[in-house]
Amino acid sequence: MMPTHSGSFRFFRFFGIQVYVHWSWFVVAFIELSTRRQNYVSPVWNVAEYLSLFLIVLLHEFGHAFACRQTGVSANEIVLWPLGGVAYVAPPQRPGATLWSIAAGPLVNVLLLPVLFGLIIYGRAQGWVRGWPDGMRLLLTVQQINFGLLIFNVLPVYPLDGGQILRSLLWFGFGRARSLQIATIIGFVGIAGLVALAVWWESIWFGIMALFLGQRCLLGFREAKGLATLARIPRHTGFACPICREAPPGGPIWVCGACRNAFDPFSTNAICPHCQTPQVVTVCVHCAAAQPIARWQTAPRGARGDSPVIDV
Ligand SMILES: [Zn+2]
Ligand SMILES: [Zn+2]
Ligand SMILES: [Zn+2]
Repeated sequence: MMPTHSGSFRFFRFFGIQVYVHWSWFVVAFIELSTRRQNYVSPVWNVAEYLSLFLIVLLHEFGHAFACRQTGVSANEIVLWPLGGVAYVAPPQRPGATLWSIAAGPLVNVLLLPVLFGLIIYGRAQGWVRGWPDGMRLLLTVQQINFGLLIFNVLPVYPLDGGQILRSLLWFGFGRARSLQIATIIGFVGIAGLVALAVWWESIWFGIMALFLGQRCLLGFREAKGLATLARIPRHTGFACPICREAPPGGPIWVCGACRNAFDPFSTNAICPHCQTPQVVTVCVHCAAAQPIARWQTAPRGARGDSPVIDV
């Protein structure tokens, strides 16, 4: 239940990042705008308010995307949908890189606080409260939206940014698998709280959001289990993923593209021992990057992991 670019419209491209808007965004925008209370003298301002929300979410996602690029990984897709935005970022599997890629999103909202506050001060000084009440009301609402989004996003509830920041911080001390496990367990507690709030407020939107987060949190919990299993498998020392630098685990956990038999490409130079088909690329179990075996043959640069690193 994640929006992908299928079902989305190409919106624009900025610094090589393609922004898509999912079809459901238009539906919700229409419902929102046609049922909204008349806060403004002219209804056009309701549209402006909704577009401001869109813009704030977009800037937040660009924060994630640009920060992820700084870690050396391409991030070139953003999808906006009614529950917010999704920046398809896959930072290198290191706590520092993950922390920066995640924290940069809410940081954009933090930076917007003084900008909007300054505009409000300026507007007050210019007498907009009387002379241009709709403009002033919009500014105040946008300030509230930005602040609300910031607070919500930094809640330590995985997979919200706050939960992922918590996870990255725990990663330094507890390792990749355990940190994710702890963060998702805390996440479940937080999500239970959000469900209670949704019932209390009788908010369908909040309920949908809580369900969505619950589903993502459960996926994270399962991923943590998988990572823990992976961490126990001894690794090949002569190889490292050219993208995330992790050493591959040893064992027949890759499937031949031709005959579907399982084998270990790192002990056969990527040639299937069952049908002799050379594999064009080998997929990294850590970051899912698919690269030719020749590119893996580098000494691992500080392969992390709680497991002993041995050659198989
Ligand atoms: Zn975010
Ligand atoms: Zn990798
Ligand atoms: Zn084969």
